[in-house]
Amino acid sequence: MLRSPKYFSIILLLSFLVSGCTAVQVSLEGKVLLEELCARHGISVFRDPVTQVITLRRGDVIAKALVGSDVVIVKGKSISVSAPVEEVGDVVTVPVDFERRIINLLIEKIEIAERSIYAVLVDAGHGGKDPGTIGRSGTYEKDVVLDICKRLNRALKRKGFEVVMTRERDKFITLERRTEIASRVNVDLFVSVHANSSPSRGASGVEVYSFRLLDAKGRQEAQRQKNYRILFENLEMKPDSPELAGVVVDMVYDYKRAESKILASYIAGGLSTKVRAKNRGMKRSGFFVLRNTLAPAVLVEVGFLSNSREERLLKTSSYRQKIADGIAESVLRYVNR
Ligand SMILES: [Zn+2]
Repeated sequence: MLRSPKYFSIILLLSFLVSGCTAVQVSLEGKVLLEELCARHGISVFRDPVTQVITLRRGDVIAKALVGSDVVIVKGKSISVSAPVEEVGDVVTVPVDFERRIINLLIEKIEIAERSIYAVLVDAGHGGKDPGTIGRSGTYEKDVVLDICKRLNRALKRKGFEVVMTRERDKFITLERRTEIASRVNVDLFVSVHANSSPSRGASGVEVYSFRLLDAKGRQEAQRQKNYRILFENLEMKPDSPELAGVVVDMVYDYKRAESKILASYIAGGLSTKVRAKNRGMKRSGFFVLRNTLAPAVLVEVGFLSNSREERLLKTSSYRQKIADGIAESVLRYVNR
């Protein structure tokens, strides 16, 4: 079971909300007034007149919301409530379970969301016709990382995470497809696993890549835009709200930028300690899967197949298990920090 993370930012998106205080006759069967609910929990409510986005705030924790949708986004992941948020006259109503499912997140009583918040996409690099790097004694990267990812899948599940894998067998999957799965499933973290290679036979150790900051052109990349469209479909966001889309894009990007780096540092330190390998540290890269996923994303290079000693280790199931446990423990430490 996961503990609640200390730093807990919430992004909650609903569509078009009009605020106002005029008293109207509202049928409240199965519904609650949002303003009243927020007042009761010390949560402030603010509507941006330009974007029409409602911001709910308590301390550092921010939520954003729209009417007409029953989908709520927490850390880029959607949580459904039992009925859409509605605007009736000048007031906004929410279903009764909004308090349990959403407000409790804002006030950090997050026991019900612990499991659903952290879904990890485990991405075994290469596969099928793409063997990846090939070790000095003929070990294929695609086989090593698939086995590690299967073990990582089990290790993360034991710690209470939801896990999705991009591949569970020796199959070729395009890089585009890998990033789309992340948006479609709406995962919280993307962890890609690879084995390294270097012309220098002595090179060894663990390194973890976080994504390099994108310039304006990079942020417009076609695959990235497609993944946003997939995310917006998940949110049931209407295409006629470009301002709102801009707000979401900025929030998702800023969150990813900050968190990817922290996650990469946790895994580089935790994994190298666990397997007693050299920590080559956190590095930045413009790898396709890192720049085009929307959730915080890292690429873990678990060791060098070009190094005879590490290749030998990477062929053993005990070492692969240690790698999987080291990554899973690091992810848990990152979440609980
Ligand atoms: Zn690779």
